[in-house]
Amino acid sequence: MDGTFNENDISRIVEADRAHVWHHLSQHKPYETTDPRIIVEGKGMRVWDQKGKEHLDAVSGGVWTVNVGYGRESIANAVRDQLVKLNYFAGSAGSIPGAMFSEMLIDKMPGMSRVYYCNSGSEANEKGFKMVRQIAVKRFGGKKHKILFRDRDYHGTTITCLSATGQDERAAQYGPFTPGFVRVPHCLEYRSFEQDGAPIEGYGVWAANQIEKVILEEGPETVGGLCLEPVTAGGGVITPPDGYWERIREICDQYDILLHIDEVVCGVGRTGTWFGYQHYGIKPDMVTMAKGVASGYAAIACLVTTEAVFDMFKDDATDPMNYFRDISTFGGCTAGPAAAIENMNIIEREGLLQNTLDMGAYMTDRLLELKDKFSVIGDVRSKGLFLGAELVTDRATKEPVTEKLVQSVVGDCMQQGVIIGATNRSLPGKNNTLCFSPALIAKKDDINQIIDAVDGALGRVFA
Ligand code: PMP
Repeated sequence: MDGTFNENDISRIVEADRAHVWHHLSQHKPYETTDPRIIVEGKGMRVWDQKGKEHLDAVSGGVWTVNVGYGRESIANAVRDQLVKLNYFAGSAGSIPGAMFSEMLIDKMPGMSRVYYCNSGSEANEKGFKMVRQIAVKRFGGKKHKILFRDRDYHGTTITCLSATGQDERAAQYGPFTPGFVRVPHCLEYRSFEQDGAPIEGYGVWAANQIEKVILEEGPETVGGLCLEPVTAGGGVITPPDGYWERIREICDQYDILLHIDEVVCGVGRTGTWFGYQHYGIKPDMVTMAKGVASGYAAIACLVTTEAVFDMFKDDATDPMNYFRDISTFGGCTAGPAAAIENMNIIEREGLLQNTLDMGAYMTDRLLELKDKFSVIGDVRSKGLFLGAELVTDRATKEPVTEKLVQSVVGDCMQQGVIIGATNRSLPGKNNTLCFSPALIAKKDDINQIIDAVDGALGRVFA
């Protein structure tokens, strides 16, 4: 094999994949008897597999990434032009696209100031954790080193990010974990009855105060950071209740805790604002982002901080230990920021934030219609074009349906040529939220096609 496959020689490609590729998130046994799926081409919101079958992609590349849709020649051209000029330089040097994208990005993030480039969401979050640790060493004698993370949130795949995951089944087999990470409760109003003492009125402030309780138990002098997703993604599309984020900010201010918002999924338009936190009028100290930054046209992730955080790393220029002692090899790739600039230009030029708000509202209404029709839908949650429908066996007990049934719905939609997702809850087998994150270019017809597929699937699976 010389690696130069003829694109038409599909069976050879499938065999090479079956023989040698280790797919993400996959049990490979079934591939002994069925073909692995290979996505060959994409345009707009549609992709084609190796059999030529067309799919409407309602999850933007499987994991809510391809925000501006497939086949964007202007991004490909921007990347190509940049690559022939300068593909890479790392270490302490900057680059033209890196500087230009940072200016664009900061313009969309009032109060933020500095952009640190790297190449995955996990890596960006790890860097945020490292900053908290270094600040603890520099300013608090190492004491303020603990980092809080929330039940049901997810921040990445490395051992340290798994030390900060609230989705147990993702972490279960990979311990021992990094010490100093402390779990705090979630804010899923629909399941607030699982939390002792949760009120009907004022749940948002109450849920945030549950985090304060942990801070007080741990000792505020030991807690340096709080890392949260603005809308929890893989943990079940959890949209925050009213008053939640405002109270979170107050708590962080009160106890001098850095608020690290993980925008790896929500960042760059997914919820109809540039960043998810911007719905709530609060200002973070650190923001991480990855997937939508360049819509998957190039690998890029960023950790963005305030000038105050940045200043803590340059206050004593005579101390050789003082700077952020960190690097990212592929943070020096220029394709990432080159793609990110054009990705952001497209969102602005085509008015995709407004489209996301409009189409998100439309799709929410359509999902609520399905909720009226199917009692198995217990809850519909959404922010922009990020939507979830939680499936329960009984609306009174809210008992989750089995993962097998949820997968049957996903599989039925797939048969109909519509790719949807299902997200985790903390408990194994409680993977009960259908998930939708169509590209920000979605139109009513696309949404209707997704809803029709789900309607048909729910009808068949729960007949
Ligand atoms: N944070 C969140 C909220 C995520 O959903 C993910 C990935 N699904 C990550 C971090 C990790 O990103 P990556 O896979 O790029 O490392």
